[in-house]
Order: sequence, then structure tokens, then C-alpha cells
Amino acid sequence: MAVYKTNALVLRRIPLSETDKILTLFTREYGKLSAVAKGSRRTTSRLSGATEPLMLLRALLAEGMNLDVVTQAEIRESFPLVRGDFGLFLRATYACELLDRLTVERDPAPEAFDLLLSTLYVLQRAVDPDAALHAYELQLMAQVGYEPRLDACVRCERDLISGDLSPGGFSPTRGGVLCLDCAAQAREEVLPFTLLALHTVIGLANQEDARALAATEIPIEARDAINRALRAHLRLRLERDVKSTAFLDALRIGAMDDLLSAPMDSQARD
Ligand SMILES: [Zn+2]
Repeated sequence: MAVYKTNALVLRRIPLSETDKILTLFTREYGKLSAVAKGSRRTTSRLSGATEPLMLLRALLAEGMNLDVVTQAEIRESFPLVRGDFGLFLRATYACELLDRLTVERDPAPEAFDLLLSTLYVLQRAVDPDAALHAYELQLMAQVGYEPRLDACVRCERDLISGDLSPGGFSPTRGGVLCLDCAAQAREEVLPFTLLALHTVIGLANQEDARALAATEIPIEARDAINRALRAHLRLRLERDVKSTAFLDALRIGAMDDLLSAPMDSQARD
């Protein structure tokens, strides 16, 4: 039986039996793959802690008939600051779910692996976790070809970043920003989107420096418009909402403030 070693992020895990789990791993070399972690639901198992979501592993896998099998896993990073903060944990879970939804199995995407990993590190020290998360969404969408049109009106193609024209709104259906004229004539849903929102989003889409991103704050006046536009844009491209976004919404409107200070139980079982 062939064995191979790889760096892998645990995107999610589901129970397979009383004792086993199926993991969805994202590896740098092979892309997304599912693998069985035998015995990992036993608290005494050496694999128990390593096979939780958000763990970065150095894993040894054996090729199986249907699913590969995790035979050894060494934790390289467990992201304790993300795990210990409910708001950050939700954002990280959403980031994993989005990557899961936007990729297919066994299609190597090392740049997507690097992006998620760097986002988890940035989340640990971000002054504004939503800036880190929106940068991740925008850059991941660009990698898979779903990015919104931001440089010009998505309807008439006129340039919107030279400063002569102001954006009139964001069209999720068309997948980008509209100029004032086109927004006024549009028959589809147009969401509010200001020049400040546009410049902020362009900045996030192009910010590849982790230190700068961790220090970036989304201006309060643009925050709501950016949340709504990116959500609606992604929802249409994914055709249904990513599950964890409902929790993120509740978090952003403050409905879950009381939970924010409660540490997550990282050993929580299904
Ligand atoms: Zn236009």
C-alpha cells in the first residue's frame, strides 16, 4: 500500500462510526481530499486532538481502496488564539467552508492552501478580523474566477477608479460595481456601494502583505455595504448560502456579543 506525507489543514470532520472520523483535508500538494482517521473519536487516541478542524498537520497517509487513511499526524499549528475566541473561530470556520465549497477533490491548488493558511495567521493578530476575512474572500474568488468587477462599471465598462465617475451601486447579478447612470437604469437588485467601499475592497483584494493586512481596518461607513455586496455576490456564485455566514451575520449585528468572551471548547464533539 502506497504511503505519502503531506502538509494538510483539517477543513472539517464528520463521525464515521463510534470510533472513526472522516476528515476533509486541504493539502498543499494534492488539493482537497477525504481521509479516514481510524480510532480518532476515542479520546485516548493519538489522532484525537490532531483531527479537529483548523489543525495544520504534517500527516502520513496510506492509499486506501476508497478513502485514504491517516496513519500518523503531527500538529504543526493549532491556532490557539483563533480557537479561543468565538468570533475568530466562526470566521476561520467560514473560511474553511468557503474553500471546501469552491474546490473539488484532488485538484492541487497550492495558492489556495497558502491563502487559507496565511489568513488563519492574520486572524490571530488582526485589528479588524473582517478585513482579513474579506481580503481572503476576494483573493480566493480571484483564484477560482469568481471575483467581482471593481475597476469599471460592469454594465457600460466605463472606468470607475480614475476618479471621474462615482459608483452608483453594486449589482450581485452582474457581478460587479455599476456607475451612477447604470445603477439608475438597472432593473435588477442594486445594493448601495460608495466610492469609499470601492476603494476599500480594491485595497483588500490586492493586499498580499500579511502584516499590513493584520493592521487594516475597514472604515465604519463602508462596512455594511461591503458585507452585503460580497455576501450577495458570493451567494449567487455559490447558488446557496455558505452555512456559517448566518452565524457571522448574527455576530456582526452584535446578537452574539455575550458569546464572544466565552472560550470555545476545542475538544467539542459532534
Ligand atoms: Zn455604467
